[in-house]
Amino acid sequence: MNDISTPPLARKKIANGAEYIESLRGRGLTIWLFGEKVEEPVDHPIIRPSINALARTYDLAVEHPDLASVVSPFTGERVSRFLHICTSAPDLVAQNKMQRRLGQLTGTCFQRCVGQDAFNALYSVTFEIDEQYATPYHARLNAFLTDMHRGNYVVGGAMTDVKGDRGKAPHEQTDPDLFVRIVRRSADGIWIRGAKAHQTGCINSHWMLVMPTMRLGPKDRDWAVVGAVPVDAPGITYIYGRQSCDTRAMEGGSIDPGNVMYGGQEAMVIFDDVFIPNELVFMDGETDFAAMLVQRFTAYHRRSYVCKSGVGDVLIGAAASIAEMNGADAASHVKDKLVEMTHLNETIYGTGIAASHQGFATKSGAFLADDMLANVCKHHVTKLPYDLGRIAQDLAGGLVATLPSEQDFRHPEIGELLKKYLAGRSTFSTEERMRMLRLIENMTLGRNAVGYLTESMHGAGSPQAQRIEIGRAMQLEYKKRLAKALAGITPELNPEEVVEELGGYFGRVFKLSQG
Ligand code: SF4
Ligand code: FE
Repeated sequence: MNDISTPPLARKKIANGAEYIESLRGRGLTIWLFGEKVEEPVDHPIIRPSINALARTYDLAVEHPDLASVVSPFTGERVSRFLHICTSAPDLVAQNKMQRRLGQLTGTCFQRCVGQDAFNALYSVTFEIDEQYATPYHARLNAFLTDMHRGNYVVGGAMTDVKGDRGKAPHEQTDPDLFVRIVRRSADGIWIRGAKAHQTGCINSHWMLVMPTMRLGPKDRDWAVVGAVPVDAPGITYIYGRQSCDTRAMEGGSIDPGNVMYGGQEAMVIFDDVFIPNELVFMDGETDFAAMLVQRFTAYHRRSYVCKSGVGDVLIGAAASIAEMNGADAASHVKDKLVEMTHLNETIYGTGIAASHQGFATKSGAFLADDMLANVCKHHVTKLPYDLGRIAQDLAGGLVATLPSEQDFRHPEIGELLKKYLAGRSTFSTEERMRMLRLIENMTLGRNAVGYLTESMHGAGSPQAQRIEIGRAMQLEYKKRLAKALAGITPELNPEEVVEELGGYFGRVFKLSQG
């Protein structure tokens, strides 16, 4: 049983990346990777780059406090911006600016946004559940949040259930554990069972917020659960996900891994009857609020994917660098391709940051991002990084996929031959050219392609999930009336027939009045 006031992990407030890394040691987590248990994830060559990426979020807060930290309204001390509840549109925009910068610094997923977006969504949803059912969730969440601020902890968000038969609701599944559910209740709390798939940064977190993954019906009561769990709670098993070329990190050397410092992390989390005390339960059976939670979470999280514009900045830089190293940078088509990459990348950033600028206040006071623009941002992210990757590979040349290994490059017999025959423009060494090619390979085909491409496709919902939301909010009836009025079919809408869209903080969006 865990006492919220004395989290079992770090004992003091984490001030920087080095302290964060130390806070992860000795937790005795059950982690499986390659069919074996991992003794200490901090020292594992495949896991460590993901820890380094998350540690960078702490160091950025030291270097640029205004960008990556805030003064906590709960403790009065500086705390990571990832733990902040946004109370204005500029707060939402500041998250995006921090995310782009961290994408630039790490070239990968730094794993901290799911918890940030979960906290923000839960802040307003718990407020509204309490309003309807007189439950104590919002005050509990505030107490938990205060504790997280005291330690400056990493809090992950666990939403994606393994889902079983996609055509069936949780209560209709042959195996009820295919969505995380409550299996037992007592006067002190609840026990949960089930599994969450591809959980970003779960092992690198201190706590996890467990949430339902989709709209629920009245018969899904036991699946309508939100609670906070320490990552080292008894009963949790982590099974590490593989990423393309990940074993390169175990081969030593510093060229072949591509991004020598940083990587992402996804793992399956299995909850085998994990206890959550009442004070850490923020939803228990309120099925009618599951959809609101998922929708608000995605309104935040789908514009958090501006992270990929920061990663895109690195890929554009890599593409421009390899063109220079190849001696091709003066060609007009090369310049044009770099312009195209920049255009695509800024399209992601533009829609994401616009969603934040259009943020509006919920009843709780927390600001929520514009749902439509957040979905448009994420939908771009499911496509545009692939186009950016294609152009980067085009500019790199075929060597990006056929480059000999670092061992060959270092070999006394053949190393000099490779240096001679893989030379490009004379102002760069062959090794520099190899390093740049490996970085592009890593970001578009290797370990970090998971973060830049596949995570862009499926993270925060696969493309169809955004199309459903865009379809729901596209206001076709209103738009048809605009067209019919100008075509002389119907009169122009009366002002009283038109209302401002709720999310339109600046009154940008209008729709037909419902009555
Ligand atoms: Fe944050 Fe992007 Fe990683 Fe999601 S994919 S956790 S938004 S860095
Ligand atoms: Fe993600």
